[in-house]
Amino acid sequence: MPHKENKEITLKGIGGSPGICIGKAYLVDKQGVDVVPKYTIFNGDLETEKKRFKVAVKKALDELHKIIIDTPEELRENAQILETHAVLLKDKMLYGRTIETIDRERINAEWALRKVVLAIKPLFESMGDSYLRDRAEDVVNVSDRIMKHLTGAQVININNIDKRVILIAKELSPAETSQINLDRVMGFVTDRGGRSSHTSIIARTLEIPAVLGLEKITSIIHNDDIIIVDGTAGVVVINPSDETLAETESRKNAYEARRALYARSGHLPATTKDGLIMAVMGNIELPEEVVAVRDRGGDGIGLYRTEFQYMARKSFPGEEELFEHYREVVELMPDKPVTIRTLDINGDKAVAYASEPEENPVLGLRAIRYCLQKPKVFMTQLRAILRAAHFGQVRLLLPMISRIEEIIEAKRLLAEATDSLKKDGIAHQKKIPVGVMIEVPSAAIMADTLAKEIDFFSIGTNDLIQYTMAIDRNNRHVAYLYSPINPAVLRLLKHITDSAARYDIPVFMCGEMAGEVIYVPILLGMGLKELSVNPQSIPIIKDAIRLLNLDQAKKFVEKLLKQNTAEKIEHLVQSTYGELLNNGNFKTWER
Ligand code: PEP
Ligand code: MG
Repeated sequence: MPHKENKEITLKGIGGSPGICIGKAYLVDKQGVDVVPKYTIFNGDLETEKKRFKVAVKKALDELHKIIIDTPEELRENAQILETHAVLLKDKMLYGRTIETIDRERINAEWALRKVVLAIKPLFESMGDSYLRDRAEDVVNVSDRIMKHLTGAQVININNIDKRVILIAKELSPAETSQINLDRVMGFVTDRGGRSSHTSIIARTLEIPAVLGLEKITSIIHNDDIIIVDGTAGVVVINPSDETLAETESRKNAYEARRALYARSGHLPATTKDGLIMAVMGNIELPEEVVAVRDRGGDGIGLYRTEFQYMARKSFPGEEELFEHYREVVELMPDKPVTIRTLDINGDKAVAYASEPEENPVLGLRAIRYCLQKPKVFMTQLRAILRAAHFGQVRLLLPMISRIEEIIEAKRLLAEATDSLKKDGIAHQKKIPVGVMIEVPSAAIMADTLAKEIDFFSIGTNDLIQYTMAIDRNNRHVAYLYSPINPAVLRLLKHITDSAARYDIPVFMCGEMAGEVIYVPILLGMGLKELSVNPQSIPIIKDAIRLLNLDQAKKFVEKLLKQNTAEKIEHLVQSTYGELLNNGNFKTWER
């Protein structure tokens, strides 16, 4: 039901993806699991109520068994947690006590289950053994699964939405976001998430406005409320007045007209006033996005995040399937580089069939660490990349490198993949440039040593800032610390670019910092040769480069490096370049 009072409410969150949309709200959370009804059961109906509970448990059990059976043999060990859940479903503590509670207190099954969970969860939580403490989570998980069958609540599949709406969710995972149907979903708003979360990044690539980190929006907005999502300003307006609607419409039209204007200049080279040509490339998650990069004048693909082909499915893709995807991308970018990054799963991009629960996933078995422990999975991907490289200009990029040994081992496996393709008589490219993401502080510090081992660096500021500042990039409470111009981050960037220059290897940037107009002078002054940004920012970044002068930018960086706070740096950046780059047109979006 829409809001009755129809009062205009404005909420400020984090702008996840720029642009404005106006439409009806559509809540996608598991309604019913959080809101539990309570009612009395009369004596004559107690048996039926207990039976209703048993049926829900049976359905939950069948559901779990189906997931376990669908898990491929080689990944069975990952399904262990689900086996634990299956056992818990029938556990005396949960199952037996819920039935007893229905009987004794003559209350409905949902309420009884909730009561039992609330009683046993603290028992687990207070246990000394961390393994047993973790079982508290499992109890909640299992009870949610039963509750879903009791209340008939369903997790709405966002693919099945049949009207044009704005999604409202507690959280959307990167995999869910990549499934969004653009004909139906105009934008989205979530309780959780931050600006450099993968969910934001995908929203920017899909070019749909998004506001994240609103904390309680799912309990404020009702289905069918009219809302405005202003991803540029990070604002959501519920039940806007006629004046607000008219004012928003005109801002929306101006924004779209400006974008159309930029698109025309995108295909020209980005040459600084003193003649340096900088390449501006696009970041993509799926092969379908290559066209967006091409249409906006991208000079190639600077980052192809391949992990999305591993999500929203039940098992690993095979070599043939991967090869077809990669070849499609390469062929859509003739004569231009395509940088294929090897699998960066886990962290906030967990894949159900490949991931085990981790206490600190962002510090866990992510990306290259995972691939080196699962050489078969890695090998399949490497072979597919080498085969696709036969059709164009492919560069290989290794994510999350934190020490030199990982590069050596990855290169050894790459040589093995080449040999095996040769033996199998399959067409492939024998030698391709191999680069590493510099996104972990240890790699940044060791950049001068790593530079001797590889062909290029690509700086991933999203993670580099996260790990340098020790802040979760998805957590809005520490978002104030997430600054690309923190002096510590700038010093690391300088060390990376100096190391690359010393060993004469190119250094690129594919983190979100590269897509912020106001930081372009810093990146130019540090010696970056190539920036890779979300497709819609390509023309804007190119325009900004055309206004700059390399020599001035270098001197400016020297000045910045003498500052000791982000605030002073921000002030210097704004007072030197603010007017030139921001003056209305160039401001990509507000922070
Ligand atoms: C980065 O960390 O800056 C990066 C580009 O990689 P991702 O956002 O996929 O972690
Ligand atoms: Mg990263």
